[in-house]
Amino acid sequence: MNEFLKKSAAEQSRALRNKEVSAVELTNAALKRIEEVDEKLGAFNSLTRETALETAKKVDEKIAHGEELPLLAGIPLALKDNMNLKGSKTTASSKILENFVSPYNATITQKLLDNLVPILGKANLDEFAMGSSNENSAFKKVHNPWNLNKVPGGSSGGSAASVASCEVTLSLGSDTGGSIRLPASFCGIVGMKPTYGRVSRYGLIAFASSLDQIGPFARTVEDAANLLEVISGHDPKDSTSLNIPKEHYAQSLNNDIKGLKVGVIKELMAEGLSEDVQKAIESAIECYKKLGAEIVEISLPNLKHSIGIYYILATAECSSNLARFDGVKYGYRTPDAKNLLEMYTKTRAEGFGAEVKRRIMLGTYALSSGYYDAYYKKAQQMRALVAKDFVEAFKKVDILISPTCPNTAFDLGAKSNDPLAMYLTDIATISANLAGIPGLSVPAGFDKDGMPIGLQILAPQLKEARLFNAAHKFEQANDFYKQLANI
Ligand code: GLN
Repeated sequence: MNEFLKKSAAEQSRALRNKEVSAVELTNAALKRIEEVDEKLGAFNSLTRETALETAKKVDEKIAHGEELPLLAGIPLALKDNMNLKGSKTTASSKILENFVSPYNATITQKLLDNLVPILGKANLDEFAMGSSNENSAFKKVHNPWNLNKVPGGSSGGSAASVASCEVTLSLGSDTGGSIRLPASFCGIVGMKPTYGRVSRYGLIAFASSLDQIGPFARTVEDAANLLEVISGHDPKDSTSLNIPKEHYAQSLNNDIKGLKVGVIKELMAEGLSEDVQKAIESAIECYKKLGAEIVEISLPNLKHSIGIYYILATAECSSNLARFDGVKYGYRTPDAKNLLEMYTKTRAEGFGAEVKRRIMLGTYALSSGYYDAYYKKAQQMRALVAKDFVEAFKKVDILISPTCPNTAFDLGAKSNDPLAMYLTDIATISANLAGIPGLSVPAGFDKDGMPIGLQILAPQLKEARLFNAAHKFEQANDFYKQLANI
C-alpha cells in the first residue's frame, strides 16, 4: 500500500501542500488499494473514478498556481450509498433502487465538491440503513477489516470499513439509531453523529426523518471535526436544518479539559457488558481523571425504554418514507403485473428485503387507526422523557461517556436469525438520536481477540466543539488510533 494512504487527512493535506505527493497520485493510490482489497471487504457498491480524478486534477492545478486550498481538498472520501451524487447510482443497497441514477447532488455532496474533496465511490450499507451489522445489504455483506469473519457493524458498515482499511481517508455515514457510532466502534475508527439539524439531509434517502443525521468517519478526531465543518450549515432545501453559524471545531481541539465534568452513564456500565469492554471503559475513566476531569456517576432512568421507543418511531416513519417506492416514479418495477394494484404489491414484494418489509409492517401497524394512541403517541411521549433525562444530566455534567456497544464485533451470521438480539446492539447509541444530541465513538482499546473497542462520548445539543475537544484529548493521551487493521 502507498504509505500516504495510512496517514491522517491532516497529514495528507500537509503532504499535498508541500508537494510530496499530488492529489491525482493520492486518488490513484486509493483506487488501487480498493482494487486490491475490496473483493475481500465488500465495502464499496460502486466506484466513481472519473469524478474523483476530475476533482483531484483541480486540486493539483490550484497547487501548481500557488492558490489557497479549501479544507480537505484532495483527501480521498467515500459516500454512503444512500447519498446522492449526480450521474452516479444511489442504491441504498436495495434491489428496488439497484439501477437508480441520481439526477442531482445532495447538499453534502455539493459541499464536498466545492471543497475539492475527491469522491471515490459509494459505500455499502444495510438496505435503507436498517441494521447493525451490514448483513442486510441486498448485494453483498461487508467484512470487518480487523477480522474478515466478523461484521463491521451497521448500517454504515462500508463507510467504516473503507476508512479502517485505508481504502479512503474519510467517509460519510448516516446515523438514525447508531449507524455511524456502532461501525466506528467495531472498526476501530472515529465516527460522529452531529446535533439533529446541524447537517442538511437534502439528497439523503430518508429512513426515519425525525432521527436521521449525516456525519463523518475518520481515523482521527481532528479529521472528523474538519469533515463536519465542511458538510455542516443551514440549507433552505432541508427545513429541519438549523440556521446557525458554521463553527471551526479544530480551533478548540486542544483546549485544556481540567475541571471538565464527565458523567459516566450508570445504566450502560451494568449487566450485559463484556469484560474487555468494561475494562477499556474503566481505563478511559482513569485517563480522564489524569487529564484533570471530574468523574460523576449519572443515571438516565428512561434509557432502558429507548430501544422500544425507537422501534415504534423509526418503523412508523420508515413505513411512511418508503411508501414512495411504488414502481411508478423511479426505481424497480415488476415486469409482469396485470393491473395497478398488482404492480404496487409485486414491485414492493420483489424489491424490498426481509428486514425492510418487517419494518414497514411494524410501522404501518403502529400508525394504524385504533393503535396510533397506544403505540405511536405513547412512544412520542416516552421520547420526551428520554430527552428530559439528558437535559437533567447535562445540568450536572459537561459530557457523558459510555461504551459505544456492550460488546465488540460479532461473527458474521451470529445474529442474522434473531432480529431482537440485533436490535439490542444499539442500546448505548439510540437514545442520542431520540434526544437529538451529538455523539461520537473514539477508539478505546482492543479485546482479547484484537477487536477494537469504542468509547462513546455524548454532549448537549450544539456542543460539538466540546465533544471533539474531549475526544481529541482522550485520543491523544492514548495510542489506540495509531494501530491500523492489517489487511
Ligand atoms: N441499527 C439501527 C436500525 O437498524 C440503527 C440504524 C441506523 O442508525 N441507520 O435501525
